[in-house]
Amino acid sequence: MTLLTFRFAPSPNGELHLGHAYAALLNQEMAAQADGRLLLRIEDIDITRCTPEFEAGIFRDLEWLGLSWERPVRRQSEHFAEYRAVLDRLIAEELVYPAFMSRGEIRAFIAETGGRDWPRDPDGVPLYPPLDKALPVKERKRRIADNVPFAWRLDVEAAMARLAADLSWIEFMDETMSATRTVAAQPQDWGDVIVARRDIPTSYHLAVVLDDALQGVSHVVRGQDLYSATGVQRLLQELLGHPQPRYFHHRLILGPDGRKLSKSFRDTGLAALREAGMPVRDVKRLLELD
Ligand code: GLU
Repeated sequence: MTLLTFRFAPSPNGELHLGHAYAALLNQEMAAQADGRLLLRIEDIDITRCTPEFEAGIFRDLEWLGLSWERPVRRQSEHFAEYRAVLDRLIAEELVYPAFMSRGEIRAFIAETGGRDWPRDPDGVPLYPPLDKALPVKERKRRIADNVPFAWRLDVEAAMARLAADLSWIEFMDETMSATRTVAAQPQDWGDVIVARRDIPTSYHLAVVLDDALQGVSHVVRGQDLYSATGVQRLLQELLGHPQPRYFHHRLILGPDGRKLSKSFRDTGLAALREAGMPVRDVKRLLELD
């Protein structure tokens, strides 16, 4: 029987907080229960915001929590060539296109087209207008040669058409502590997502999907905040022919104000709690994990 594989995949662009501790400890607990593997993956494709100091902080905090993981740790910034190869494949298959509009241009376009009802993604961001998708190849090449900034966006419509006329079969298995249910993936809710930048040959979605497949991840245990992103990732998995992992989206740990924790909340930062002398068992009790 193949071993079940879990992963905790933080980004070193800030300090870890209690929400990360919950995700990490839950992965550890589920991996242990399944006699499976636990991987740690450093998601540092954003080379302007991720730093070695934050990465060192992640290792320190996780060791303090008593987590152990397999080594070597996969660091995404060391694998750009692999992402580039996948991006090239998507370009060759005409499933992505260069998108040139800046945020300001998108806003102006939507305002001009009478934008009140313009569709928005689950984060409330307006979907990318369909103009660039229709640009002639010659014009695309001219702009790229002229160094106009762009990002590669997935042509979701083309991608869905490529897979099947009726995509209701793209699903994911969503688990909770007590049950597993099948959820229909809705990648179109996000519009044409960015899959790579001009200088960085990947995006969060593309790197996660490729790495989960390369690392044989069977169970993705992560926060509810990524629940609707799973639809996009399922679409990419299908396009690339990767197996689908099972998903467990855990509850979010909220701050005293009832909001999702952010990396700027000093008082729920793990380093601050450790330095204040909080025993790990109290952290676990706080997270209802003891
Ligand atoms: N790197 C992502 C984050 O820190 C998590 C990715 C994932 O679990 O899929 O929010």
